[in-house]
Amino acid sequence: MQNMIDKIIQFRDDRGWKPYHNEKDLAISIALEANELLENFQWKSSEEALESSTENIKDEMADVLIYLLQLAEKMNIDLEEEVSRKMEKNAIKYPINK
Ligand SMILES: [Mg+2]
Repeated sequence: MQNMIDKIIQFRDDRGWKPYHNEKDLAISIALEANELLENFQWKSSEEALESSTENIKDEMADVLIYLLQLAEKMNIDLEEEVSRKMEKNAIKYPINK
């Protein structure tokens, strides 16, 4: 994961975009890219969307993650740690029915 973050940060810094990447705009960008992902499915069944738009769906999924990782980096958040913590919380909230 750190390798991926380093690549994204390098890409941003090479283009001088760091000053524009504040927390608010990164959060907005995550939501906008998530909506671009949704556009691929609008008015279609899942099967139809996957058949016609898999490449674009993959692009938009990557865009969401790219902005999410940039927001985490900006806020000094270790997302691997936070996912583990949240999964533990989820396990308590949604126990396995035995
Ligand atoms: Mg996009």
